Amino acid sequence: MEGGGQILRVSVALSAATGKPVKIINIRSKRTRPGLQPQHFVAVKAVAQISNAEVKGLQLGSKELEFVPHQLREGDFFFDIGTAGSTTLVLQALMPSLAYTPGEVTIRVKGGTNNPFAPPVEFMQCVLVPTLKRLGYEASVGMTKRGFYPKGGGIIKAISKPIRRLSPLTLTDLGRVIKIRGFSFSSRLPPSVTEGLTSGAEAVLRRAGYQDISIENESRKSWESQCALNEGSGIFLFAETTSGMLFANDALGRKGASDQKTGMDVAEGLLSQFSTGAAVDLHLADQLIVWAAMADGVSVLRTTQLTLHTVTCLEISKKILGIEFQIEGREGEPATIRIEGKGIKNLSTLA
Ligand code: ATP
Repeated sequence: MEGGGQILRVSVALSAATGKPVKIINIRSKRTRPGLQPQHFVAVKAVAQISNAEVKGLQLGSKELEFVPHQLREGDFFFDIGTAGSTTLVLQALMPSLAYTPGEVTIRVKGGTNNPFAPPVEFMQCVLVPTLKRLGYEASVGMTKRGFYPKGGGIIKAISKPIRRLSPLTLTDLGRVIKIRGFSFSSRLPPSVTEGLTSGAEAVLRRAGYQDISIENESRKSWESQCALNEGSGIFLFAETTSGMLFANDALGRKGASDQKTGMDVAEGLLSQFSTGAAVDLHLADQLIVWAAMADGVSVLRTTQLTLHTVTCLEISKKILGIEFQIEGREGEPATIRIEGKGIKNLSTLA
């Protein structure tokens, strides 16, 4: 399958949520630097702490792990990746088990808040968390400091409320786009950077006929507490449709690249996702699989593009939970996924 961090995160997440021990071998064996990197190491450490797990093989670089979870717990936790590793991927590993704790949990994670090939913190706030609310799960994600490569140092804070059981999801109907929102952000750079990102995106969206557009510019100076430790910039756009679907696209700014062009590319990428008529974008699709697998009933997701990440999450969920699933469609193309969730229950009395 995908052969990267996803297998690890989904495995420990489902293990902690259900109390089933897992052994993971050949960790990230398809990557040039295989084994646990700081982000993966902290993700496992964090899930282990929440689930009082005994873990064998938890060292940086480790390619094999045994994870034996016990009782989930509530409380306040802080995890420092120590590098610019993605804070949101640590949260991705944690969140499924947080739904089944006995009480509220507050998590702060230090590292990168906007990384390539990972959900930007805005994706968690504006797309994932609101979509998870449709299953009944309530959480909030905030950011107290931005963190970019190479220094990291950003801090996100999540508050999670436990739930008795998750409802299934049917996300098949795209609907019509009603509004587009976004954020252009920078740290330690002139305001012209966010202005360029925003104006490029707005030009494309207006030309395509969208009226209800609002993109906020956040240009942090070195003396502001939310400013990142080093220079960085980016843009995140998301659209809401009449059926309540949420679509996003984002990019980080690059030295030497035109900010206006980056903004235009992100807007074009956002609009191109509507052409398939599917309801769930490729990133949200892989991130929803574990939730649908734990939910009580049948979920149906129509995704713009079936990815190996999504198929991997389905196969791991089948291995650990014993779910059944069907896919109509092929990898790289729009597809419909039907998942018979296991109805995992929260057995603690308070939830
Ligand atoms: P690797 O082991 O390959 O180094 P990793 O642990 O850093 O990987 P992946 O296993 O590739 O990460 O998983 C990346 C996760 O980030 C997936 O859930 C994917 O959907 C999500 N993701 C990547 N880019 C975006 C994005 N732009 N917006 C939202 N989610 C994203």
